[in-house]
Amino acid sequence: MHLQRTPCILITVDCLRVDHVGCFGYKQRTTPNIDRLAQDSIIFTNAFSNGPYTTSSFPSIFTSTILLRYKGEDLPLSPERPTLTETLQKNGYSTAAFHSNPYLSSGFGYNRGFDYFEDFGAEPIGKEERIRGLKGQIHGFLADLNNRILTTLKAHRMDRTVLSRVFNLLSFYYTCLVGYSGARADGATITEKAISWLSKNPSSFIWLHYMDVHGPYIPPRKHRDKFCSERISFYQQAKALSKRETPESVTRREVDILIDLYDASVYYVDECIGTLISQLKAMKIYENCLIIIAADHGEEFTEHTSFSHGCKLYDELLHIPLIIKLPDSMSHQEVKGLCSLIDLAPTILDILKIPRDISFDGTSLLSMVERKSAGRPWVIGACGNSDEEGKKKKLFSLRTEKWKYIFKEGMSDELYNLQTDPKEKENLAKTCHEIREKLKSKLIQLSSKVYYDLPSTPSVLMDKKMKMRLKALGYS
Ligand SMILES: [Zn+2]
Repeated sequence: MHLQRTPCILITVDCLRVDHVGCFGYKQRTTPNIDRLAQDSIIFTNAFSNGPYTTSSFPSIFTSTILLRYKGEDLPLSPERPTLTETLQKNGYSTAAFHSNPYLSSGFGYNRGFDYFEDFGAEPIGKEERIRGLKGQIHGFLADLNNRILTTLKAHRMDRTVLSRVFNLLSFYYTCLVGYSGARADGATITEKAISWLSKNPSSFIWLHYMDVHGPYIPPRKHRDKFCSERISFYQQAKALSKRETPESVTRREVDILIDLYDASVYYVDECIGTLISQLKAMKIYENCLIIIAADHGEEFTEHTSFSHGCKLYDELLHIPLIIKLPDSMSHQEVKGLCSLIDLAPTILDILKIPRDISFDGTSLLSMVERKSAGRPWVIGACGNSDEEGKKKKLFSLRTEKWKYIFKEGMSDELYNLQTDPKEKENLAKTCHEIREKLKSKLIQLSSKVYYDLPSTPSVLMDKKMKMRLKALGYS
């Protein structure tokens, strides 16, 4: 097939932990298709996100800037910051995106530079989409009602009552029973739409973002049965899912069920990626393609007392898979140097030989691939959290190969030796003064440069539908 430009496919998987991907060492067979792609690609074993949730990490991917520049989270992309997509479009690329994360919707500015942008935010067309929309509204309604019950109990200083727990369980039972195609588009739909675009526009830049690994973990039933070590009922599945909000009450067995469900969801996304790659091969463009697979962040399974992905800067949330298949190359390489999501945009432009007309915080990873550099000396992470009184607090991390320093506004800081304590359990902030001071002053130097004097970014006006979808995804 004649190609005007090198096809570029960016695949991001929400919440995909690096240690649950086969080619990065996971023992379960969750990702046979990604592993096969990795054989023709460069894998980066020390790639890190710059934030632990979508709104804190995606600005890094599309604008190669750290969250410090945004003065917060839950904000749209700054209009002053050009995106990777805009640069590609300006250089003649057809551009298309397929995803269903409301935080990455056009309302948050992620449509900038895309000729076609499918974020499933429009009114449903056709019977099938209307049914999906209705399911999503019911999911959102149940999640909203649950939040209201909990808020009322809290206001009256009452602990979670039996009523609240039963309601929560019932709402997850409903979710397990009807599936979860309402609040988000499933992987098969995303893949199908992308393939349809690709068949007509093979020289495009295409971004696919999969939400199926994001909680609640409701994989298709056949995938669930393949990964759960023993058969579980809908009731057991719903019970484990409903307890994620009260991690102190979860048994080890329930954590294992949640991990099995998560793995089954990873397997499902891998299957979708396999379908996409088969299509590239059928179109005979696989070899010429630039393909990138990354996650926006990881997922916690009580390593630091909770589930999901809140404002914490530990490695289960920041260490991500990163795979790059170069165009016209089918060779495998493993790169161990430190890198992060801010390096993606400059790498993509470098590989496609497109001149940068924008400034980036990141640097191209090609110099590491060509062994001209050993990787970045540090990776920065950031997120925001509300305290008991609802006041926003910022958390920043500075990671080197050996150390991680975490600065928390208004709280005591943390320091971990990642070589002797990779699970980040022993806080050395009070004992290793010299290292702590060194990393702290570096962090202050970096943050004072970019953070404190920035104008605020306008907030996003969310419609009722978007709010419901976010609630159904577990955001209150
Ligand atoms: Zn995310």
